[in-house]
Amino acid sequence: MISVEQHLGRILDTVRRLPPIELGLLDALGCVLAEDVRSAADLPGFTNSAMDGYAVHAADVAAATDDSPVRLPVVNDIAAGNTQALSLAPGQSMRIMTGAPLPHGADAVVPVELTDAGLASVAVRSPVEVGQHVRPTGDDVHTGDLVLRSGGRLGPRQLALLAAVGRSSVRVVPKPRVVVVSTGDELVEVGRPAGFGQVVDSNGLMLTAAVRALGAVPFRVGPVVDDAKELMSTLEDQLVRADAVITSGGVSAGAYDTVKEVLSRVGTVRFDKVSMQPGMPQGFGVLGVDETPVFTLPGNPVSAMVSFEVFVAPALRAMAGRPEHESALVPAVVETGWTAPAGKTQFARAVLHPRRVTGTNGQDCDFAVTLVGSQGSHVLGGLAAANCLAVIPAAVTEVQAGDVVRCHLLGAMMEA
Ligand code: AMP
Ligand code: MG
Repeated sequence: MISVEQHLGRILDTVRRLPPIELGLLDALGCVLAEDVRSAADLPGFTNSAMDGYAVHAADVAAATDDSPVRLPVVNDIAAGNTQALSLAPGQSMRIMTGAPLPHGADAVVPVELTDAGLASVAVRSPVEVGQHVRPTGDDVHTGDLVLRSGGRLGPRQLALLAAVGRSSVRVVPKPRVVVVSTGDELVEVGRPAGFGQVVDSNGLMLTAAVRALGAVPFRVGPVVDDAKELMSTLEDQLVRADAVITSGGVSAGAYDTVKEVLSRVGTVRFDKVSMQPGMPQGFGVLGVDETPVFTLPGNPVSAMVSFEVFVAPALRAMAGRPEHESALVPAVVETGWTAPAGKTQFARAVLHPRRVTGTNGQDCDFAVTLVGSQGSHVLGGLAAANCLAVIPAAVTEVQAGDVVRCHLLGAMMEA
């Protein structure tokens, strides 16, 4: 028996960050940047108006008041997108729109609200300071500025910045491509009726969805029967497109536990009992010339999901160049106690309720936590209702009302 930490440690020591590639900006959404990006341009690229109003020489309107407005001739109309090089002589004004280039000589913009909105001439009712309502060239970013550092993750805001500084593609760590293989003679494809003795391949769907929700790229393979040759040839076929492989089923101690039988022979995959509940039988290793990581998860749906959360998700994030854990465990106060297994880390399906509550140890928490559903590892209903896994250390056998426990959040719909 090995600990959760030992198994995870072995996985994280084995997986490698994927080599960078160049991707178009939208395809890079959710990826980690693999270059320092410097701006090829000034932002804004030209001095422009921050308001709809009138470009002026500030000195011309210094004396303007409500009672005695300053009247200026309006000699031009400048819309956003105007590319003419215009000049404003003292004593004149030009009507200007937000984002339009400020004419040469003008040093401020009077917002239209402080005028009579005149077209041939305008009455200005308030003075403006030099530079007011003007966005100078390079105010935001200067040519050559470091705008994004290697290692950061690209979301919509970072992609906007890349586009604005002139990039259409960028060097990133790609999203891991993950093949998901379900095994079991009893499995039928999703959408087909499960006859007597048969089970819908819910794991295949769940793990594929989990891979996608994490921000990696899943390829789902239909259920594979418990046959050594079939399984081996499926894995060999799939390896070409995989940065990682996840299997479910066939790793316990039964007869027909084909995954274990086949991969034990390969010699590069190790099968262990991990001191956790659920999810005790686990396998991990590498396959093929590229040493592609393979995670062999137990078939019970809850075990498979917990194993994904605890072992696969941190590894996929590391391969994508992301931190292994992107959210901390959340402390919460137990509402009703339960019994936990001796000598195993328990990942109990539970619901966090946002509520300010103090534990019996005096710790203030933002959440209370309650178990949900039966804790049997085949119980999908409880899993679907849970929004966290309460992580109970191996040494704890009685969880009591008022205890503060740490919870692993589930159910972020999308990480990218
Ligand atoms: P195994 O790990 O293959 O011994 O399977 C353990 C339990 O999980 C059995 O009840 C299986 O029917 C069930 N199971 C295995 N694979 C899947 C799957 N892909 N979808 C749903 N249940 C499964
Ligand atoms: Mg099986």
